[in-house]
Amino acid sequence: MKPLLPPADQCCGCASCVDACPQKALSVVEDENSFLAIRVDENKCVGCHLCERQCHLLHPERLTRHDARRVQPYAGWSIRPELIEKSASGGIFAQLAYDFLNPEHGESHYVYGAALQPDGNVRHIEISTRHELPLLQNSKYQQSDLQGVYSQVKTRLKQGAYVLFSGVPCQIAALYSFLGQDKALSDRLYTIEVLCHGVPTQALYRTALQVEQAKRIVSYRTKDECGWINNNNRLTYEMPDGHLQTKKKHVYDFLFRAYLEFSFTRKNCFQCPYAHISRVSDVTLADFWGWNQSKKKESYRNHMGTSVITPNSEKGVALLRSSRELHLVETTWQEFLPYNQNFFMPTNHYLFVGADKIRRIQQLPLGCRKFIFQNGFSNRYFNEAYRRLLSVLLFFKHRREQNEVKQKLKTTLEYLKES
Ligand SMILES: Cc1cc2nc3c(=O)[nH]c(=O)nc-3n(C[C@H](O)[C@H](O)[C@H](O)COP(=O)(O)OP(=O)(O)OC[C@H]3O[C@@H](n4cnc5c(N)ncnc54)[C@H](O)[C@@H]3O)c2cc1C
Ligand code: SF4
Ligand code: SF4
Ligand code: SF4
Repeated sequence: MKPLLPPADQCCGCASCVDACPQKALSVVEDENSFLAIRVDENKCVGCHLCERQCHLLHPERLTRHDARRVQPYAGWSIRPELIEKSASGGIFAQLAYDFLNPEHGESHYVYGAALQPDGNVRHIEISTRHELPLLQNSKYQQSDLQGVYSQVKTRLKQGAYVLFSGVPCQIAALYSFLGQDKALSDRLYTIEVLCHGVPTQALYRTALQVEQAKRIVSYRTKDECGWINNNNRLTYEMPDGHLQTKKKHVYDFLFRAYLEFSFTRKNCFQCPYAHISRVSDVTLADFWGWNQSKKKESYRNHMGTSVITPNSEKGVALLRSSRELHLVETTWQEFLPYNQNFFMPTNHYLFVGADKIRRIQQLPLGCRKFIFQNGFSNRYFNEAYRRLLSVLLFFKHRREQNEVKQKLKTTLEYLKES
């Protein structure tokens, strides 16, 4: 009998069920809108239901959620320039991974995270040395494929190794669910999640490459010249002749605008159970948006990047304490929650272009696609007029969404005041 896995619009594509299937009856494919989806080969499936039993969405009761009221949040960054420069935010992930991979530990420590692949896709990989760290640094606004990675982590833990696993929150939840109740295994596992507002269809970056006539994306946040402080998320592309081209401003980049403002995001992300104040991972990392609204802003200011760090568990606290090269300043939830809703609720705003439309846009001739994307998304003047028109048209929609966020923020802050 076919397994009863969550329907496509609820599944997050974490792929841990693929690793759980002893018959190799499950695989990751792209659906008609280029989202990662799970396919069941009914000829191989023997109906054992192991895949269902470890799906984190079907068994939320198995996950330990940490009590945010006991957490002391920090603002901070890595003091190693070579680490912060290549990272999207304050370089906290890179610093913690750098310390974890101390050569004195021998060959017993492994770090996992998302890496851009030569074919343009993103996959989770294992590294065991500090010089491989740049592969995992920086945000990639594509969904990472984790087929085979959960089993690899389990094998490492069974061998007695220590693992630092990083990813978006649903991937951390998937790993815990995959490992099950075996405490001996999870004792040597440390988890770091990056705050996440959703991942887009794979068609988005492919269309971007066509529109930009580029070979591949090499960086989603290039900090040279502008740093982090101006919130200018510049992308760097490798062109067919091999030279690197960095966008002047993120507002000129089709992919980034489309990702942030339009609904090319997976449907399930709009109901993400991990965009919740009680987190599942040991450490949560985010950009410290709103740092400059604080009275303490001078202590939060860093041209190259300021992160918010919440050590959610004892292990998370131990990880932070183990680093002597992190600059940390105590902060409060009140300072950053109003500017980063995915700490307490899923993304609830998007404009009218749905993921299903990208297929139709992709079918247009390249000239038309270029016009739509470069003028519709990236040209400053057209875009401004376009945005104004949209905001008038969508006034009531925006107001409703903002009210939802305000209401949730209020109840979250009240909850955090409880001791
Ligand atoms: C899809 C996505 C959405 C995000 N949305 C927000 C947001 O709304 N608000 C916010 O404050 N921050 C968001 N972030 C996180 C933010 O961009 C920084 O990554 C975070 O602040 C950590 O910064 P850092 O400098 O310490 O590490 P960085 O070097 O920037 O990040 C490296 C870490 O990110 C992980 N990572 C990178 N790309 C992916 C991916 N595609 N899938 C899984 N893991 C990945 C790596 O495994 C590694 O652990 C998002 C990140 C991603 C990947
Ligand atoms: S384990 Fe992950 S990929 Fe598999 S059905 Fe559940 S949510 Fe979807
Ligand atoms: S029911 Fe068993 S055999 Fe079938 S897909 Fe799930 S794990 Fe594989
Ligand atoms: S929003 Fe939630 S479900 Fe979507 S990718 Fe991020 S963590 Fe996963």
